[in-house]
Amino acid sequence: PGPDPVLRPDPLPEDDRAMRPQALADFIGQAEARANLRVFIESARMRGQAMDHTLFHGPPGLGKTTLAQIMARELGVNFRMTSGPVLARAGDLAAILTNLEARDVLFIDEIHRLNPAVEEVLYPAMEDFELDLVIGEGPAARTVRIELQPFTLVGATTRLGLLTTPLRDRFGIPTRLQFYAVEELDHIVTRGARLMNIPAEPEGTMEIARRARGTPRIAGRLLRRVVDFALVEGDGRLTRALADNALTRLGVDDLGLDGADRRYLSLIARHYGGGPVGVETLSAALSESRDAIEEVIEPYLLQQGLIARTPRGRMLARRGWRHLGLAEPSPQTPQQELF
Ligand code: ADP
Repeated sequence: PGPDPVLRPDPLPEDDRAMRPQALADFIGQAEARANLRVFIESARMRGQAMDHTLFHGPPGLGKTTLAQIMARELGVNFRMTSGPVLARAGDLAAILTNLEARDVLFIDEIHRLNPAVEEVLYPAMEDFELDLVIGEGPAARTVRIELQPFTLVGATTRLGLLTTPLRDRFGIPTRLQFYAVEELDHIVTRGARLMNIPAEPEGTMEIARRARGTPRIAGRLLRRVVDFALVEGDGRLTRALADNALTRLGVDDLGLDGADRRYLSLIARHYGGGPVGVETLSAALSESRDAIEEVIEPYLLQQGLIARTPRGRMLARRGWRHLGLAEPSPQTPQQELF
């Protein structure tokens, strides 16, 4: 079984566009990134030049796409969007690049998944706004150089470590996005409830914020589900009791962990004596892809201090044992060896 789509931060067809902040001033949280971006946007506008290439990295659902759209809007230029896996051939990227207008923002999501041949094309495009296209094959092949309009590439990745060094080096503005504080998520949920015209008690929005895994996309999704319960089974008001009940029914626990998180933790505890255990082993035992484990499940568990990563694998931390309601084996007891 894959991750539960309701609780996972990947985009669903269900549209949350209405909740997307449109301006930097409406964007809640990420104070440091926002303050820096404000300066770089303003400076690019003053100089009348394309803003420097920007790389956003961090777990899914933290606002990378939203920030890229905001950048384009604040720069007063077009926003073009594609993703690493979609650009199969060099020609696909060339077609997009040659259609850009001066200073446009080109957003490439999942940029760590670019095909190497496509990535080659990107280097001179980023550096000199030039395209070197090879036409023909064998001895007749020749290279034509095409001048591009200056543009801003905004890359997004959940896996900074998978980016090649040459690509990483070509971003002038690398920006790491952090998990959101509960108060910031509370702002986001309160704003969302207002946009949905749902009367909400502060304790109700706070309950959703506390259980949103530090992630605005999850906060928005949980809000929509809680509102469903409020409309159908409640009196249309978002109260704490209603939020608590709805979230518990959705399998979201007190810390905001869902079934996949708890299966991960309890596997390490019950089958591997708290670890260390390798990610491949966990992936096989949980039937989750390694990517899902490393990009979606682990970052939040690490940030919450529920697990630790060691050179020999993942280990359950003290807080993880406590969350599962299990006794942590004392260090004196020899660890159970499985192999
Ligand atoms: P990413 O590209 O990092 O996966 P997105 O930019 O698609 O994340 O954001 C996911 C959703 O979360 C957006 O649709 C938006 O509604 C919401 N969101 C993200 N960041 C914020 C924020 N700072 N304030 C309010 N809503 C946000």
